[in-house]
Order: sequence, then structure tokens, then C-alpha cells
Amino acid sequence: MHTCQHQPELMSILSSLLQASKTKSRFVVGSHVWIEDADEAWMDGQVEEVNGEDLVINCTNGKKATVNLSTAFPKDTESPRGGVEDMTRLAYLHEPGVLQNLKSRYALNEIYTYTGNILIAVNPFQRLPHLYNNHMMGIYKGAEFGELSPHPFAITDRAYRLMINDRISQAILVSGESGAGKTESTKSLMQYLAFMGGKAKAEGRSVQEQILESNPVLEAFGNAKTVRNNNSSRFGKFVEIQFDQYGKISGAAIRTYLLERSRVCQISDPERNYHCFYMLCAAPEERAKYKLGEAKTFRYLNQSNCIELNGFDDSKEYVETRRAMGIVGMSNEEQDAIFKVVAAILHLGNVEFGEGKEEDSSAPKDEKSQFHLKTAAELFMCDAKGLEESLCKRVMATRGESITKNLDAKGAALSRDALSRIVYSRLFDWLVNKINSSIGQDPDSKILIGVLDIYGFESFKTNSFEQFCINLTNEKLQQHFNQHVFKMEQEEYTKEEIDWSYIQFVDNQEILDLIEKKPGGIIALLDETCMLRNSTHETFAEKLYQKFKDSPHFSKPKFSRSDFTVHHYAGHVTYQTDLFLDKNIDYAVNEHQILLNASTCPFVSSLFPPVEESAKSTKFTSIGSSFKQQLQSLLETLSATEPHYIRCIKPNNVLKPEIFENSNVLQQLRCGGVLEAIRISCLGYPTRRTFYEFVNRFGILHPKALSKGNTEITSTKMILEKANLVGYQIGKTKVFLRAGQMAELDALRTEV
Ligand code: ATP
Ligand code: MG
Repeated sequence: MHTCQHQPELMSILSSLLQASKTKSRFVVGSHVWIEDADEAWMDGQVEEVNGEDLVINCTNGKKATVNLSTAFPKDTESPRGGVEDMTRLAYLHEPGVLQNLKSRYALNEIYTYTGNILIAVNPFQRLPHLYNNHMMGIYKGAEFGELSPHPFAITDRAYRLMINDRISQAILVSGESGAGKTESTKSLMQYLAFMGGKAKAEGRSVQEQILESNPVLEAFGNAKTVRNNNSSRFGKFVEIQFDQYGKISGAAIRTYLLERSRVCQISDPERNYHCFYMLCAAPEERAKYKLGEAKTFRYLNQSNCIELNGFDDSKEYVETRRAMGIVGMSNEEQDAIFKVVAAILHLGNVEFGEGKEEDSSAPKDEKSQFHLKTAAELFMCDAKGLEESLCKRVMATRGESITKNLDAKGAALSRDALSRIVYSRLFDWLVNKINSSIGQDPDSKILIGVLDIYGFESFKTNSFEQFCINLTNEKLQQHFNQHVFKMEQEEYTKEEIDWSYIQFVDNQEILDLIEKKPGGIIALLDETCMLRNSTHETFAEKLYQKFKDSPHFSKPKFSRSDFTVHHYAGHVTYQTDLFLDKNIDYAVNEHQILLNASTCPFVSSLFPPVEESAKSTKFTSIGSSFKQQLQSLLETLSATEPHYIRCIKPNNVLKPEIFENSNVLQQLRCGGVLEAIRISCLGYPTRRTFYEFVNRFGILHPKALSKGNTEITSTKMILEKANLVGYQIGKTKVFLRAGQMAELDALRTEV
């Protein structure tokens, strides 16, 4: 299971909410209900008997069950078969209702559903081209929000209009677990923005065209097949699209986050390395130029049996990528240099080391390794002997003296992989910078739309530093999300002029403090540990145990000496600290730095600019801290925008259409904060009905209230009084009911 763990808190909050409001509600024989089920998460049925606290339920699937009435939820029998487009329209806003609604819509290929302003997108795992063509964009252009079926175009259209009308920057935040459809959604909304804000084609490439073509370039170098997604983005991305005063796209900036570096040298079956490696090996015209063989002959690629990808033609993709690289402003020479570096990394990976002449020293193992080393040096345009030395030796500087030390075969192999990783990550950064400089920023732009495509909450069997950073991101975005949902609720209440002062706001600030407080948070302690000599992951873990032994959001797993558990908003995650220190340290080995800086290829040399003396003394750059800063700046940008949310859901783990796994989906709704949004809304008045709708449904409870002279609002009030409800509120156009009150009214209706 790759989704987050079961989170009992939220469940119990939800049920206690219903519980509280149910004191007066009753289930009678014949009531339709939802009850929990181990296999299906929820199953529906009808009450056959009521015995005090117990209900005997006849389930639709043929099972019979006896449950305590506090665990049963009312089922709405009047919701349309195909579900409702906006979940806030559900008569009962609870977990089984939400799930059922998404499921019945998914069965009809209605993959998009709103929860208020949030768009939920369930991955169809099949192309639905009619949803995204120009005709569709034309239909959504300027349509009133909510008038048409839920769609990313509708969200984008609303963001665009708000930006134009209110002159406020907007952000569209797309989240979800790996394979849920974030990148696909992002692409369709960028396509819509280009449609709305594109300028007529001037000379050269238009900005919108360059923005769209940046996607295939970044995907070629930053996406890979994983077990969860055949085209998984291994980096986070925020694209800021700038507009001029006429609402036309005038510039853009792309920021990327935490490219997964380890993949360059290490992949596990059946995953792949970054797409670009396979593309290059599959391009017949390049093979001779870069002395390449088939992909399966390279160690960085053949550690996994997965070389070819179904439905993905690497040689065609190569041509396509080069075309896109041209559009985003990379010259042919630059493109050649880029692929030369990609090829060099492949050759480097094939260099194996054996014992050298001296004791504990190393040298390329055989002729084959010699050949790959020489070829790598040729492609990097650096000295072959120098390359060998930089891998097999290390200069140690102690007290002003420097000693050259031999590395053994194992050490040389580690050094080789470190070199490959740093080169690749510098290459990726170069691509992003290049794209940014050729698209160009508009210094006069005052309004922008930001689009965020970033990894969702992760909790696996083993969780390392990457998961830690990813979950920090989600913790921060969750805070932002809660604050926003809360604010929106308040605005709705204010508009209807009803009192909202009782709504309590739950914050995850304490968890954020635990992680990022300076000094004393987990990241700060990690940096401290990295700076100390002789420290290990165990001393790091020990520090954490000492410091946070009383924290309610931290715990030490019973049988472990170096793991730690953080109680995230979306569930508990246990992290293995083994590689935390290594992964937090970011530096280029001095020998590698000097070697590649001296490359006669200007491109390679530019990837390794000279390091200033002053920077050398601060021993290392902390990836954790710089990521924390990047996040900080992202959130500052976001807080100056009006946010819109798209929550992507992966309905199954087999990546196939038409399969909707209840428990799996529920967990994602929890982790993505959808249930949290519902919870916040349940604290207030989750059910809202216009007076007309209310009278229509409940007039039967009090026919006299419907007499001719009464306005709808009077009738509504009379019905509510007759039903003996308390705590609801009458707004200007709608009645606001507390959680569970709809069920009470429905129960009365069955009795009539
Ligand atoms: P990751 O975090 O791994 O990058 P992701 O959330 O970005 O995952 P995508 O790459 O967008 O996931 O989607 C995974 C796959 O699901 C796509 O390659 C595509 O096959 C399918 N898919 C997603 N959304 C759609 C859609 N709207 N229509 C058709 N297919 C889709
Ligand atoms: Mg993606």
C-alpha cells in the first residue's frame, strides 16, 4: 500500500460530530443507512430492527449486520443516480456519502466533481480526448462557474477572470499521490491559460508556446517510470505565468524542487532511470557520435529489467524532445552538449574499479572500464588521467596541509556515482534556468497565475529523507489549505449575515515547529549533526529522542534505535534515519569540481563555476535547510494569491480504467485534506438549502406552513419550529442546518 496510513482521528471526529448531532435523530425500521465494512469501507442497507442501541441491518449486498446506532450513518435516497456535481449539495455530507458520489460519477466517466470550490479529479486511466479539445475550451470560456460540468478549465477560467477583474494574482494548487494525475491536470490547465491569454503569433516563438513546450523538456529529464506511475515526475514544480494589463501572457518563471538524484545511479526493478537516457540510446543517429550501445548495456539502466516502456517510443520521443528544446530556446550546439553530458554519465556508470598497484588503491578494472572512462572524459572534454585520479584519489585537507589519499575500489565507485549525480542535477538546473531566461520575465507584470504540481503526502514501508521533505511540503500546504477553507466558510456566512463566531480552527503549526523551528527543530538538529565530525545517523536519532521525548507529535518506535515517527496531519510516518546525513549534504567533491571546471567544453565548464574561497569554508550546503527556504518563499508567493485547489485521486494501484477501490480512495481524500475541509464545514452548517428547496422537500411535515400567503422564508421557519429543531440559522437566501439535522428531518418525513 503506497497511500498514507489509516487515520483514526479524523474518523472519530467525524463520527463524534454526527453522534453529537444525532442525539435526537433516530433510525426507524426502514431507514436507509451506511455502515462500516472491512472489505468495502462502507456498505449500504436498510434498518430491519431497532433494539435499544442496536440496529439490525439488511445490507444491499445480501449481508446482515448488527451495529450500534452510533456507527450507522443515514443514507440519502433522493440523490440522483449519477451523483451530484458538487458534494456540498449532498443531503448528508459524510464519508460514505462522499465516496458513493465519486464512485457513481466515475462509473459514468464523470471524473471531475466539486466539493465547494475544490475540484476533485479521479484519474480515468484512459484517454478522454473530447474533454480537452479546443471546442471544450471555447465552451468554458467565460461561462459562469458551476454552470457547466466540473472541469479544470472551469477552475482555470474562474482564476483567470478573478485575476482580470480584481487584479489579484491567483494560484492553482494541484496535489495528489504519485500517478493520481497532477501533471496531466496541470498540462490541461496550462493549455487553457494559453488559450485564454495567448498573444497572436509574433515573430519567433510566442511565450505561451514556450511555456507549453517546457513540459516535454522537463519531463524528458525529470520524469521516469516508477512502480506507481509510468511517467512519474521526480521533482516538484511551480510555474508562475505572468500577464500584462490586457490579460495576455507576457512572461513566466519555473521553479523546481528536489529532483530525485539517487535515481541517476540506482534504480530498482521494475523502474527506469530518467527518460532521456533511453531516448538517447534509442536514437540511431546519435549512437556512433557518443559511442553508445543499446540501453541494456549500461549499468545505470540495466540494474532493472525494465528497459522498454509500453506505449512509449523512445526514439520518437528523442526527436520530439529535441524539437521542444529548440522551441524553448536551446541552440543545436547546446542540445548536443547536453546529450554529450547525458552520454558521458552513462559511460561513467560502466567504469568498474579493481585493486590498483598500491595497497588499498584502485584503478579501472579492465579494458572495458578503461574504454568507458576514456569515452566519458572525451565527452566531458576533460583530461582522462585527471578523471581517473579524481575518482580514485581524494585530497584531504587537515590543519593547512593537504594529503592525497588513495581510495579503494569501493570508495572509487562511490566517488563515481557522486560525480554522476552532481553532474545530472546541475544539468537539470541548467535546463530550468535556460528555459526561464529564454521565456523571459515581464518586469512590468502585476498579475500572475501560479500553477503548483507537487508530490503528495507519502508513507511507505521505509521512508527516508525524501519522504521527510515531501511530507514537510504537504504539512505546509495543508496549513495554507485549512486557513483558506476556513476563510471561505466565514465569507459565505458573512454574505448570508449569519453568526460564525463559534467555529474553531485546528492548526498544524505545532507539527511544523517540530520540523522546521530554528533552532531546535528536526532540520536544525540534522544540520548540526552533519557539521560535527564522527557523527552518525544514530547520534542524530539520539538527539531527536532527547529533544522531543515530550512532544505529542513525535515518538520513538519501540524496537528501533534510529527510526523516528512524526505524527503528521495525514497520519503517522516512521522515518529511517540511515541516509539522512548523506542525503542532507550537498557539495561537489573538490576534485570533481576542479576537473570539470577546467573542461574545454564551455557548457560543461559552466555547470561547475569556480567556487569562491569564502564559500569553501562553510563546509557544506544543507539540502534540508535550502529546501525549507524554498518552501518558505513558495508560501510567501502563494499567500499573496487567491488559491484554487485541484485534488487528484488515483482510484486503483493497477493503473487501469474502471476500477474504483473504496478504501484506497478514502485514504487519499483524507490525506489530501478533502475530508478535513468537510470536517471544517461540518463544524458549522454543512447543509445549506435555498428556502424554495427546503420547502419543497419538507413541506410535507407541516402542510399548513405552505398556505398561500406565506413567503418561502416564513414557511421554512414554520416547518423548522414544528420539527423542534434548534441551532440552525436562517440566512438571507438560504437556511443553514447543523450536521445531522437533515437526517432528523428526513426521519420525521418517513413517519408522516
Ligand atoms: P507523479 O507524482 O508520479 O508525477 P502525477 O500525479 O503527476 O504523478 P500523472 O503523470 O499526471 O500523475 O498521471 C499518471 C498517468 O495517468 C498519466 O500518464 C496518464 O496515463 C493517466 N492520466 C492522468 N490523468 C489523466 C486524464 N485526465 N486523462 C487521461 N489519462 C490520465
Ligand atoms: Mg507528475
